[in-house]
Amino acid sequence: MVAGGGGLIGILVLVFSLLNGGDGTSVPDSSVGNLKSDLSATCQTGEDANQRDDCRIVAVVNSVQAYWEERQPDYQKATTVFFSGGTNTGCGAASSSIGPFYCPTDQRIYIDLGFYEDLRTRFGAQGGPFAEAYVIAHEYGHHVEKLRGVLARARSRETGPQSPAVRVELQADCLAGMWARGAVDTGFIEELTDADIADGLNAASAIGDDRIQEQAQGQVSPESWTHGSSEQRQKWFLTGYRSSAPFPCDTFAVPTV
Ligand SMILES: [Zn+2]
Repeated sequence: MVAGGGGLIGILVLVFSLLNGGDGTSVPDSSVGNLKSDLSATCQTGEDANQRDDCRIVAVVNSVQAYWEERQPDYQKATTVFFSGGTNTGCGAASSSIGPFYCPTDQRIYIDLGFYEDLRTRFGAQGGPFAEAYVIAHEYGHHVEKLRGVLARARSRETGPQSPAVRVELQADCLAGMWARGAVDTGFIEELTDADIADGLNAASAIGDDRIQEQAQGQVSPESWTHGSSEQRQKWFLTGYRSSAPFPCDTFAVPTV
């Protein structure tokens, strides 16, 4: 565990059903070299979550799903698949270089555990447990969008700061913020500090299109944005986190995001 990362962790008891949406079995994918398919057996206490990176992620997944089960009618649990190197998905082969993602076809979230290292080294985020949590909650945000029929709106090839693709991404950031606001109430997370939220914002900022372009190409071309700028991503995370409205995340309802 990253020491001194704030008070995210302190999970009461982990539920075992989370890795595969509730039927209690693991999600082996034989093509995967190092799938952590037995996490539900390994991660059972708050202490496990505080001491092991993978158990901490399990706790976050449990919390995020518990949150949406309460708020999204007909919420269906989505399986999280951890992998390293590469894996086959309902959306085709995936390598760790593409980062964590949600596949709408099989409704699974794929997380390469090496991504968190990348977040710090390649993208220059500060890291910390809540940076990880933000990324997981963002991917589950896409699952909620899928259930709400929003994800289909990203199919256009249009890009740019106000494009449907960016609005879908910003909505997922906002949904991550909504979860953060209610995370402690899910019972899986003891407390969230301002430092945790700052870590989340820092991660959101690190993976903004402008920041990534600047780093990769030395220049920024907004017309090709697909995820939103650092500023947009932080803004929408905070919108979800701060608002007490039942659903403050409709990024398609506003003229500019
Ligand atoms: Zn996304």
